[in-house]
Amino acid sequence: MKIAVYPGSFDPITNGHLDILNRACSLFDKVIVLVANNPNKSSNFSTLERVEMIKEAVIGNEKIEVTSDSGLTVEFAKKHKATHLIRGLRAVSDFEYEFQLASANEYIDPKIDTVFLMARGDKTFISSSSIITMAKQGIDVSKLVPDSVLKRLVK
Ligand code: ADP
Repeated sequence: MKIAVYPGSFDPITNGHLDILNRACSLFDKVIVLVANNPNKSSNFSTLERVEMIKEAVIGNEKIEVTSDSGLTVEFAKKHKATHLIRGLRAVSDFEYEFQLASANEYIDPKIDTVFLMARGDKTFISSSSIITMAKQGIDVSKLVPDSVLKRLVK
């Protein structure tokens, strides 16, 4: 059983995240979406809401589990017998941060490797923060986020 962890803020989850997640499912037997619970970082949605929105969006996919944790991603992965972390790459600007993060995780435990999946062409511009900005301005973001997010954005 090959298990991967897809960690992130998912504040909120977007169709860009979901595309990476679905593609990771074709590479692994199980993918655990790990929502970062960081009380020191301000967020648009609570950790519980972020988990709920993802759970609703992936309902029916038996390969996916969704949970949150406030500890180290690598430690979480080890505890859940995962061998890989999944991250997505959009523009070159993502690279520096992602490379640094993957290197730090490698330092903590070289046995846990990070797998990068490239954003699909039509998803490269989607980010959680751009969704929030557009939604606040009344722009229709229904093609960019799942319904579980859309209904909470409307509120
Ligand atoms: P974090 O705060 O950990 O960066 P995010 O929720 O912003 O969490 O992103 C989680 C991961 O998903 C990151 O690797 C990010 O690059 C990737 N990601 C975000 N949006 C997209 C997208 N539109 N296409 C592909 N990957 C994406």
